[in-house]
Amino acid sequence: ATPTSIMVGTGRAAELGILFRKGEALQSLREADVVALDKTGTLTKGRPELTDLIVQDGFTRQEVLGLIASLEALSEHPIAEAIVSAAKEEGIGSQTVSAFQATPGFGIEGTVNDRKVLVGADRALRKAGVDLSGVSDKAATLGDEGKSPLYAAIDGKLAAVIAVSDPIKDTTPAAIKALHALGLQVAMITGDNKRTANVIARQLGIDEVVAEVLPEGKVDAVKRLRTGNRKIAFIGDGINDAPALTEADVGLAVGTGTDIAIESADVVLMSGDLNGVPKAIALSKATIRNIK
Ligand code: ADP
Ligand code: MG
Repeated sequence: ATPTSIMVGTGRAAELGILFRKGEALQSLREADVVALDKTGTLTKGRPELTDLIVQDGFTRQEVLGLIASLEALSEHPIAEAIVSAAKEEGIGSQTVSAFQATPGFGIEGTVNDRKVLVGADRALRKAGVDLSGVSDKAATLGDEGKSPLYAAIDGKLAAVIAVSDPIKDTTPAAIKALHALGLQVAMITGDNKRTANVIARQLGIDEVVAEVLPEGKVDAVKRLRTGNRKIAFIGDGINDAPALTEADVGLAVGTGTDIAIESADVVLMSGDLNGVPKAIALSKATIRNIK
């Protein structure tokens, strides 16, 4: 591509709210075979709401919500906000937390009111030796409803099965359709559980799902999708997504995301609207065609 055609292409992209941080990306994008997207905050709004709090025998709702919300008040995960606002809405105040610890991809723990509290994914509870066998059917049902199940333990005992639901952005279905119309495969990479991820993928017509990926596992997920020498464009918004944005053949960051994701990307979508992805790919194809 000539410098002039790239300038014209990147200029046209800027008018569409697509910022090419690297000129080469305008050429490499047209070679993408698979568009892989992070789920939370990329396909979805990234603002989950608490939908279920199923309190186990021996605990009360007020007690459990009070303890877990106190802990979540110290977390920056989107799930934390869902739980903290639910407690606020129910007029439950916050208590002092000590020994707070967050484990990315697992959950959070700490001491609240002399009680040991743990909130997180099934793997976090299992790692702590909490038995989840009695609630696995319930969690499966929640997952099949497209909700993300998580759990709370208090003093080593299962206290609640929790679910949060993060709505899909209104603009996402059209973006997936447009990617398919360009002949691309669409994949989802997420830390969320398999059932939830599969339900959301099915709703959107997404072809491939890599779920239950730990934060440091997104790079491997990109490598796995690359089998058969396929070229991968990865789209993400979070701190966790930064290494995968670098690893992918082209990395696109959602402009509403974290600074580190934006700095790791070749292309930045100025809004959260994923329709910028098929637009950028179409533009890449048109620019290269023009100079041939
Ligand atoms: P994702 O961005 O896909 O949610 P993460 O790696 O951030 O992936 O988190 C994976 C899982 O770990 C979450 O789906 C949740 O079950 C659990 N988790 C992480 N942080 C928290 C938290 N603050 N509160 C409750 N659960 C959490
Ligand atoms: Mg995200």
